[in-house]
Amino acid sequence: MIRQAVRTWINLPTDTPNAYIHASIRDGGLGISSLRWTVPLRRLNRLKKLPLAEQPANSAPGAFTQNEIKQCENRLKDNQQNIKTSADIYKRWAEQLYTKVDGIGLKESSQVPQQHVWIQEGTRFLTGKDFLQSCKLRINALPTKSRTSRGRPKERLCRAGCNRPETLNHVLQQCHRTHGPRIKRHNAIITYIERGLRRQEYEVSNEPEIHTTAGLRKPDLIAKRGITAILIDAQVVNDQTDLNSAHKQKSELYKDLMETIKEKWNVQEVKFTSATLSWRGVWSGRSAEELTSLGIIRKRSLKVLSSRVVIGGLAAFHQFNKTTAVRG
Ligand SMILES: [Zn+2]
Repeated sequence: MIRQAVRTWINLPTDTPNAYIHASIRDGGLGISSLRWTVPLRRLNRLKKLPLAEQPANSAPGAFTQNEIKQCENRLKDNQQNIKTSADIYKRWAEQLYTKVDGIGLKESSQVPQQHVWIQEGTRFLTGKDFLQSCKLRINALPTKSRTSRGRPKERLCRAGCNRPETLNHVLQQCHRTHGPRIKRHNAIITYIERGLRRQEYEVSNEPEIHTTAGLRKPDLIAKRGITAILIDAQVVNDQTDLNSAHKQKSELYKDLMETIKEKWNVQEVKFTSATLSWRGVWSGRSAEELTSLGIIRKRSLKVLSSRVVIGGLAAFHQFNKTTAVRG
């Protein structure tokens, strides 16, 4: 009944995995308790604390507690494994979530535990309707041709005329029709970071033009304070990408500009980093770690940017559906 209610509220397609509902928020799920596992576990823990818990399990008078304990333990057998703690329950659901085609993109969630907290708390950027849609976006449940025709042979090519299957990945990351919202999503990240840096009295250049022999280069931000400059580039990548590799690649993209930046910004040291998230709002663990340890953003801002990326994705999805004209 609980699952049914959640599915109705969010309007989740029937093939959305149960694991999305029950996985913890930290692991990328919705964090709704699954009574099937939590009830026997709590009962077991209470029974074990009773004075008569040491009585042998048999039909002798007084063995009631032990028999009940046995029963709970049986209830907590999950294939070959025994669930012993609530951590085991979280792990079980997370593993199930990541084996699903719609859930695998949430796999790196627990590297940055704070990022999904907006699911629990909401944010001031989110209306109720957007919140529900965001929950759908994260589990790849927004209706695209590929998603709705799953298991049925049907025309799946993008309705905007691209010669590509219409997946959410395509709609949010590649389609020409969502180019505008994609830029806005990117700029929202940059603006947020830039504002934070200015508050900390960094001198910030937004998309500075750097002329090199190889042509014009335009990193997103260069922030200077004292003798140090930090170059930050942002990216929202598709959900099949290894997030830490994407971060590393992006951070290294401008390293050849080190000397030019030192000279032009009059600094002795240049640091290179990136803000890298997937369209599901999952941070690259290393990107989040670098940005927070360099003091560029605060830990509690991680969730803000995470939800901002998801909202940006929703805007792209709405834009995609609004236009019906096909490219000629
Ligand atoms: Zn397209």
